[in-house]
Amino acid sequence: MDQVRTEETPGLDRRDMLKAATASIVGVASMAGLSVHANAEPARHKKWGMVIDLQRCILCRACTIACKQENKTPPGMLYNPVLEEETGEYPKPVRVWFPRPCNHCDKPACMPSCPNDAILKREDGIVYIDPDKCGGAQECIKACPYEVPLFDTGSNYHEGHGAWNEIASPELGLMQVPGKRITANQARKCSFCLHKQDESGNYVSLPACAKTCMGKAIHFGDLNDPNGELQTLLKGRKYMRRLEDKGTAPNVYYLL
Ligand code: SF4
Ligand code: SF4
Ligand code: SF4
Repeated sequence: MDQVRTEETPGLDRRDMLKAATASIVGVASMAGLSVHANAEPARHKKWGMVIDLQRCILCRACTIACKQENKTPPGMLYNPVLEEETGEYPKPVRVWFPRPCNHCDKPACMPSCPNDAILKREDGIVYIDPDKCGGAQECIKACPYEVPLFDTGSNYHEGHGAWNEIASPELGLMQVPGKRITANQARKCSFCLHKQDESGNYVSLPACAKTCMGKAIHFGDLNDPNGELQTLLKGRKYMRRLEDKGTAPNVYYLL
């Protein structure tokens, strides 16, 4: 994919290009002054989040595939696409890319839009669509500024991929009905691989996207731990969150 090899663009290194492109991509006026401590919950509560290092992401899309494999999503449904954007002007156009899971926002725009109260914000920060309640109104799809929720039309892979259609998706746990996808005609999205949590609320293994990233670009952990991996990364680097002006307070951070 030659068009994404930004290091070949003369006169700019990757860090400079990312900096230059950031405002255009995310629509933020300033990258300075962001702090996750401002409205932090008491330390005893975990707040799961992600820090994604844009300098380490090589656009391999292994995270996208690992997520699809983990969650057994139907045709055309990707919980974590790697989006590409072009910015800058000739003769120095810049192409940038970034994985886009759900942001598990502190103020999720999707949640109040749902007429069935099917979207829940857990104490640990995870925003979750309850398939027991979702009536397929699709209001969350319109409300999310990040275009995260997707509509499960119930379509399956065609013959030859039949086995995939029958495999249980671990994200749905015991709610599954063999041979019938209960999320057909409902909204679905990244749940931060909630099914990987144990009974104490800790992760038995990393979310599939973070676990598979060979570039070690995706870091997952507790944003409320002041000495944890995520806060350590944020203290040492410049970073941004997408579309801060929407007031959603995302919990996915991008290191520049
Ligand atoms: S797996 Fe890692 S390096 Fe590859 S596209 Fe995803 S975030 Fe980037
Ligand atoms: S990114 Fe969209 S779907 Fe995810 S919590 Fe925020 S508003 Fe809701
Ligand atoms: S946390 Fe899980 S559901 Fe969300 S993007 Fe990563 S692999 Fe997919």
